[in-house]
Amino acid sequence: MRRQRWILAALVALLLLCPCLRPKAEGPLVVTFLDVGQGDCEWLRAPDGQDIVIDGGVEAEGPNVLSYLQSHGVTDIEVMVLSHPDGDHVGGLVTLLQNMPVALVVHNGQTSTSAVYQRFADAIQARAIPTLVVRAGQTLSWGPVSATVINPVDPLLPATNDNSVTLRVSYGDVDFLFPGDISSAAESALLGRGTNIEAEVLKVAHHGSKYSSSDPFLAAVQPHVAVIEVGANSYGHPAPESISRLQRAGATVYRTDIDDTVTITTNGVTWTVTTQSQPAIPCVGDANGNGVVDVFDLVIVTRAYNPTGIVSDVRADINRDGVVNLFDLVLVAASYGCRGSTPQPTLVPTAMPTATPTPMPSATATEPPAGNIEATAWVSNPVPSQYTTMTVYGKITRGGAGVPGVPMHTTWHYRTTTPYCDGVSNSDGVASCSRYISGATKGYYVQIDVTFSYQGQSYTASTGFRPQ
Ligand SMILES: [Zn+2]
Repeated sequence: MRRQRWILAALVALLLLCPCLRPKAEGPLVVTFLDVGQGDCEWLRAPDGQDIVIDGGVEAEGPNVLSYLQSHGVTDIEVMVLSHPDGDHVGGLVTLLQNMPVALVVHNGQTSTSAVYQRFADAIQARAIPTLVVRAGQTLSWGPVSATVINPVDPLLPATNDNSVTLRVSYGDVDFLFPGDISSAAESALLGRGTNIEAEVLKVAHHGSKYSSSDPFLAAVQPHVAVIEVGANSYGHPAPESISRLQRAGATVYRTDIDDTVTITTNGVTWTVTTQSQPAIPCVGDANGNGVVDVFDLVIVTRAYNPTGIVSDVRADINRDGVVNLFDLVLVAASYGCRGSTPQPTLVPTAMPTATPTPMPSATATEPPAGNIEATAWVSNPVPSQYTTMTVYGKITRGGAGVPGVPMHTTWHYRTTTPYCDGVSNSDGVASCSRYISGATKGYYVQIDVTFSYQGQSYTASTGFRPQ
């Protein structure tokens, strides 16, 4: 009896410690690296809706930043961070201060004699906006997101770049590092202080300058994703040697001069990267859920490959169409190397396809009754949540009676690699097929066109859903 109680207690303790049972945080943290040409500007939308802006690019970019934020639903800024007073960081903030309520300005206390810095200071003063001078060790938090200031320290360093306010922002297991324009001098000072700078996502320091992003620094950061905020310039930014150091450290490098605005969305466990120039390649091929699409995923899909049968390993059914076939292999191959995959679906076996054999065409087959041929369509749930499996149904009737054995093709109108799934009508004239809707955006209506091909003619119907 005593022994059983011990086992029970140990089991309960184990369950409580298991991260799988901890309540999941609600929304994502979305971090956007705005393309502001040569300059820095990052916008964070915390899961609780707070908006944080770090730097604003040059002054001429201010109106662009303002309209980008407004078009993405930003009406006020909870925290504005100025990394350091250089024009390519402070400039665009002036327009924001003049056109949006800002609750707090965080900075390192250093000022500049430049006219644009003066306009920044004047805008703050005119609106009596509270300011906060920060030093390493201070923390800020936005709901479930925490930000630790890890630079500068007193006494400040001689180069203003090296005193950039540097934030390490953490949401669950995913960390972002925003080191402003610090050089290798400040990087080695950080390392010397033993600061934890590990981060999945790195805003590359000083626009990819060769005097930043040193090997020891990158070895400690271990970035998976590196974003360089850079535009046309005469400083040689980004330096090829910096880019190769980042790549050697294992990072996938994005550049705002090539990729335009880069957005990283994370649920605190995994993340996805979207770029304005190339919104493609969703990270859908991560069959084993280890956060990177690699050879192990290929092995899982290859082992379960069975295009004519039912799914034996649901992880391998990447597109959730109920069979493990060539399309799943293509999806893995297409997102190979992609880090930060789509959250894994719960491993619930896909519904078994009904074992209704397609009626054999034969001379004696009874002809369906004559009459109007009609197609109708509906979905399993018109308001599903994201990352669920959706089933679309089509029905083909002739003179009101279901027509069996008719192939159905469906096209799903949203951004995905294989926007279709197919089925065949059963004895009631009903066909169905399912898709895992990872990439469908909340609030946007996804139309599904259903086409039956019957006796050389196409019969179409439409339905759809709106992810909530
Ligand atoms: Zn700069």
